[in-house]
Amino acid sequence: MLTTIIYRSHICDDVPVKTLEEMVATANQKNGEAGVTGILLFNGTHFFQLLEGPEEGVLPIYNHICEDGRHYNVVELMRDYAPSRRFGKAGMELFDLREYDSDEVLQTVLDKGTSKYQLTYDDRALQFFRTFVEAREKENYFEIPPGDSWDFISDGNAVKPENLVIDNAADCSFAFQPIIDPLAQEVVSLEALIRTPSGDAPRAYFESLSGDAIYEADLNSKRVAFAMARALNLGEQMLSVNLLPMTLVKVPGAVSVLLQEIEANGLVPDQVIVEFTESEVISRLDEFTDAVKLLKAAGIQLAIDHFGAGFAGLSLLAQFQPDRVKINRALIKDVHKSGPRQAIIQGIIKSCASLEISVCAVGVEKAEEWMWLESAGVSLFQGHLFAAPEFGGIPAVAWPEKKSGF
Ligand code: C2E
Ligand code: MN
Ligand code: MN
Repeated sequence: MLTTIIYRSHICDDVPVKTLEEMVATANQKNGEAGVTGILLFNGTHFFQLLEGPEEGVLPIYNHICEDGRHYNVVELMRDYAPSRRFGKAGMELFDLREYDSDEVLQTVLDKGTSKYQLTYDDRALQFFRTFVEAREKENYFEIPPGDSWDFISDGNAVKPENLVIDNAADCSFAFQPIIDPLAQEVVSLEALIRTPSGDAPRAYFESLSGDAIYEADLNSKRVAFAMARALNLGEQMLSVNLLPMTLVKVPGAVSVLLQEIEANGLVPDQVIVEFTESEVISRLDEFTDAVKLLKAAGIQLAIDHFGAGFAGLSLLAQFQPDRVKINRALIKDVHKSGPRQAIIQGIIKSCASLEISVCAVGVEKAEEWMWLESAGVSLFQGHLFAAPEFGGIPAVAWPEKKSGF
């Protein structure tokens, strides 16, 4: 199938610009063999390239480009499918934008078109060209240093009691994972993640339950979470717990039960954040809204979890105005390489900033993901890069430290 990929990248300082023509000639040979055509723009600092051809020709060439040490911060802007090529001449044209004015380039690009119809700037791909040529994308384009320009140094502050038995009768246990502000070197909250007594994942715990028993168990498990928090000497640390929205609707008096257990374990509502995911359609929205009011009235904060996944969409922001939004891992993964994810996350950040809602990125595994998100304005992070969940304890945190020379 005819595939189009557009990416933008940054040239490495040590690549002499003079050698570009040569690079393109070599690349053209390979591209020609794979049936890949397109256009390459260069503005002195950045490359912008459109590749088109059969999918099995375009993908390996693009992957090769991503690995090519002569440029970095390669961001895929568009991947699309089309009935015919825009630029069908064999090989790749190189335009050095410093040699033309932008109108001239834009017209020349259109003239290179080989499609049956005259190319126009209504086309998405060509809109990307125009934005690049007119340098309108700059405020959204962050240059991040290489991932290894930071060290991640453990603070050694793990809390792991030998055997933390809260209640022999309890059918669940918890792992704790810090939510941190890496640059402020601050643990902002600890999230309690449910486990089976032997440490298996939430799915393993919930799969043995069915019907309304799931909601009962979800609520009752919070007693164990609060008791563990007390045993781990949480003090005034904020504590995040997860609840299914329907737990608040289906279990009578759920909010009172929560408040009782918070108090019984020497905690206060103001240090508790309830995270809920809209994984099931909230079929009883009015009752859920009432429960949320009670939570807020008691001083408990609210976070929308898995934001950007499935049902946890933008309309929830209008309905609940949570204190925090946690961006789903699927959007975080490789955000530094993906134009679409960058655009969505920038939209979330902007909406949340207007509403004074704090934004947390979940599932951060790579230094590049973290650096891109910091550049975009996120300051709360949770992920293996800093600390993985610790079963029955609190893990040490690996804090970023800039290496000298960067
Ligand atoms: P969540 O609330 O988004 O919790 C974060 C999940 O991401 C955790 O999975 C955690 O282990 C995982 N995670 C954290 N950092 C990374 C990372 O860098 N990479 C990757 N690949 N994963 C990372 P876990 O513990 O399996 O929990 C899965 C989900 O189960 C939670 O997602 C939450 O929605 C749900 N859950 C956990 N505890 C409870 C609970 O008490 N009640 C309910 N109803 N749901 C719970
Ligand atoms: Mn959560
Ligand atoms: Mn999750």
